[in-house]
Amino acid sequence: MPIVRHHVKSGWDDIGMRMQHLWEQTLDWIGDDGFKLYVYGMNGWNIVLYWTVGLALLFLEMSDWPKWLIRYKIQPTVTVDRKRLTSLIALNLFNQFFVAIPFTIFGYYVLKFQGTSPPIRELPTLTRLVVSLAIIVVIQEIIAYYAHRMFHHRLLYKWTHKVHHEWTAPIALTASYNHPLDHLIVNILPTTVGLFLTNAHFFTTWIWLTWATLRALSDHSGYNVLKFLLPRRHDFHHQKFTDCFGVWGPLDYLHDTEKLFQKNVASLKDREKSN
Ligand SMILES: [Zn+2]
Ligand SMILES: [Zn+2]
Repeated sequence: MPIVRHHVKSGWDDIGMRMQHLWEQTLDWIGDDGFKLYVYGMNGWNIVLYWTVGLALLFLEMSDWPKWLIRYKIQPTVTVDRKRLTSLIALNLFNQFFVAIPFTIFGYYVLKFQGTSPPIRELPTLTRLVVSLAIIVVIQEIIAYYAHRMFHHRLLYKWTHKVHHEWTAPIALTASYNHPLDHLIVNILPTTVGLFLTNAHFFTTWIWLTWATLRALSDHSGYNVLKFLLPRRHDFHHQKFTDCFGVWGPLDYLHDTEKLFQKNVASLKDREKSN
């Protein structure tokens, strides 16, 4: 056994060494200036990713194509109202350029002030990467659930979160269709607080934000394709407003805010069985 273990260990070490080498080569090519990497690199990457996937899904939605995809539509009778697309695109761009980018600049200077960030050139170990991501997922779940519920309070809802709920049948690009304050507190903070608390490496931040962007797009896509990401949950939240405030759902279970959703899932299963 020790021999096998030794091989496994050296296998991981080997991958780690190669990754480190590749990372250094990439930084030699793009530069390792912290401000440029965090502000231009991270935002540029996320904006391109968001619009590429979001617009591609919008195109498929508007053209009712391909046929196999239509079977996965969560609300199959609803079509996109073209008249709403201008405000959808405008608010997305506003949030990216006037909320997300200023927040990244602020975050960068907080990191610089703290001075404890791991050196960019030295990749985190696999264990550190996995443990950091696990903590970040838990922190996101907790803050997202309570912040989201708070924005459903009648005093806040009317002038903030109501905007996001204009879309009762969401499409991918409604992921950042929020009042700017709502975008900052319900979308950005839950996703990023964990990065500060775990003193995340730039590489961890990049992996996490890529994941979070894709997850938000899937949650709002209106398609139940990536079932393991539970897109029905958030889609149902847009339909009913009273259930499914969390990302994965443990706090909805704990606070009993998924009763209607569970009933809906049960009736869908019954319908599938009888067909
Ligand atoms: Zn939403
Ligand atoms: Zn909501």
